[in-house]
Amino acid sequence: MVHAPSRPPAGSPPVRVNLYSDTQTRPTAAMKAAMMAAEVGDEQAGLDPTIDALCDRMAALLGTEAAMFLPSGTMCNRIALLTHCRPGDEVLAHATAHILTAEGGGSAALNGVQITGLAGADGQFDAATLAAAASVRSRYAMPQTLAVVEQTSNFGGGTVWPLERLRSVAETAHAHGMATHMDGARLMNAAIAAGVPARDMAAGYDSVWLDFTKGLGAPLGAVLCGSADFIDRAWVWKQRLGGALRQGGICAAACLYALDHHVARLAEDHANARALAEGLAGIPGITVQMPQTNLVFFDTEATAVTAAELAARARARGVMIGAMGRFRARACTHLDVSRAQVNEAVEAIAGLV
Ligand SMILES: *Cc1c(COP(=O)(O)O)cnc(C)c1O
Repeated sequence: MVHAPSRPPAGSPPVRVNLYSDTQTRPTAAMKAAMMAAEVGDEQAGLDPTIDALCDRMAALLGTEAAMFLPSGTMCNRIALLTHCRPGDEVLAHATAHILTAEGGGSAALNGVQITGLAGADGQFDAATLAAAASVRSRYAMPQTLAVVEQTSNFGGGTVWPLERLRSVAETAHAHGMATHMDGARLMNAAIAAGVPARDMAAGYDSVWLDFTKGLGAPLGAVLCGSADFIDRAWVWKQRLGGALRQGGICAAACLYALDHHVARLAEDHANARALAEGLAGIPGITVQMPQTNLVFFDTEATAVTAAELAARARARGVMIGAMGRFRARACTHLDVSRAQVNEAVEAIAGLV
């Protein structure tokens, strides 16, 4: 798991290349200008025109009836589960899924559901695995009410679920009486990498959300989409959790700006990730999982340097990467990382192992 960088150790040199996460982007000057110009109102009372515009745009983009603006992706997952499931239900997701491994146990603490982790390469499971995990309804079994996919799979290596697999998983889930949820934190990365419209990927999913802070460069915000009835019921949870906003349009404006200016350019991040992967693969002892999108996972075991130690050494050289396991490291490209910085990072890391 990621070692959260709290405050950097005193005396750390400035960060020159930040590959820790695609959440590390700072809003650009043009994005800030769009935020300053936003028309705003009280969202809770339905009076923020910029949030309404963002929700309309996202519903159209993902092919759903309705959408809801939330502060974070984690809150999208929490509210989606609160809306689909009841305490005591079983949710099926990949064993590495963010909703299971990286949300502080929120599904247990706040949803009261049990998530069963499914197996499969690269953070993905298939319809046969889902069908095998489906239980017969009985007095003994937990009610299975939801299947979750993660596009792209974060801890699977930023991998893109193929359209055919998304469809067959959704059909299988529905055939077994389960609803379907897509954690689309990096859905636009998947759409750009595969050349498939996001709405086609989301088809068959009863709820889907996009994060605006993962490479799209907004300071906060995520949008949860679904049927009008689903969003209506989700709004009760948004209100209950204190997620109803006031003049939130100032942040929705950053998300609208990102949709206009930061989606097509994700292709640059993917090209930079490939360059980074090729550079790292040239370092003796490092094994790289070739990236499909903007996340580059690599293994340091043959160098005998743990990922955490490598991250600490890199940080001392002004390069930030993440440690995701004992010998598993992650480097992410995003809009604040140039090709020159990628090359600089490869050189620095080569000198550390
Ligand atoms: C980051 C992430 C989340 C949580 O989103 P936040 O906006 O950080 O709360 C959920 N799922 C996946 C796959 C993620 O990468």
